[in-house]
Amino acid sequence: MQGIFTMARLTGKVAFVTGGSRGIGAGIARRLAADGASVAITFTKGADAAAAVVKQVEDAGGKALAIQADAADAAAVTAAVEQIVAAFGRLDVLVNNAGTAVPKPFEETSLEDLDRMININFRGTLVATQAALKHIRDDGRIIMIGSCVGDRMMTPGLVAYAATKGAVKMFTQGLSREVGHRGITVNNIQPGPIDTDLNPAAGDWATPQIALTSLKRYGHVDDVAALVAFVAGPEASYITGANLTVDGGTNA
Ligand code: NDP
Repeated sequence: MQGIFTMARLTGKVAFVTGGSRGIGAGIARRLAADGASVAITFTKGADAAAAVVKQVEDAGGKALAIQADAADAAAVTAAVEQIVAAFGRLDVLVNNAGTAVPKPFEETSLEDLDRMININFRGTLVATQAALKHIRDDGRIIMIGSCVGDRMMTPGLVAYAATKGAVKMFTQGLSREVGHRGITVNNIQPGPIDTDLNPAAGDWATPQIALTSLKRYGHVDDVAALVAFVAGPEASYITGANLTVDGGTNA
């Protein structure tokens, strides 16, 4: 019975996950589809990976759409939102997941690196949200994938990245004040170390990150996807402007 209930939570809803061909975004797309939503994902380079996510969703009986659109390209993101609404007829949930990190000491971080992190992680989030808000239904959901380092900072090497995620946090809190009258919630999910291509559990950076967790291990993309699915669902309708951390206790 639990399975039947879970399947129905997002039936009839349409979700857009930016950067959904791999990693956390792909996990979120698969989970929202399993909960009944039609899902659209964007990517930049990984057309095959994006097609594989679409196939996984379709094989499980869901609907999915993959669109090549760089989060840093405002026109491409806006066009992607229009394409999603044309394909699925509505938009209910936006997950601003696309993001990147260039781990380096701040003084060695180039202007190009800074622009890349700001444009994808922060500017991209603002642009996608503006485009989506033209269509998102009342009682919709805007969900950011921030980071636990947008809240607290324990390690060197992520200065500019953390600053972009801190900006995402305040964007969340501010926007929640403007769209709440429509029942739209705006929340920021802050992962800790999650095993992906961006942050492999076997990489050089893994050991200090594991040491900082309470649970002494990396998390899985499904840990983040489960929280996103809850926030996207009807039971989370009174949660807004919140920063929800899923980090194995890193920020405890
Ligand atoms: P990955 O690098 O593993 O995957 C990133 C995904 O986003 C891919 O599908 C990639 O596809 C897509 N993508 C990358 N750049 C762009 C872009 N400019 N426009 C559109 N799509 C893009 O990253 P993660 O899954 O690890 O990270 C996802 C989010 O989670 C990011 O915002 C990250 O900051 C955040 N996060 C991750 C943590 C972790 O430990 N992994 C911890 C805390 C936060 P393609 O290559 O085809 O573009």
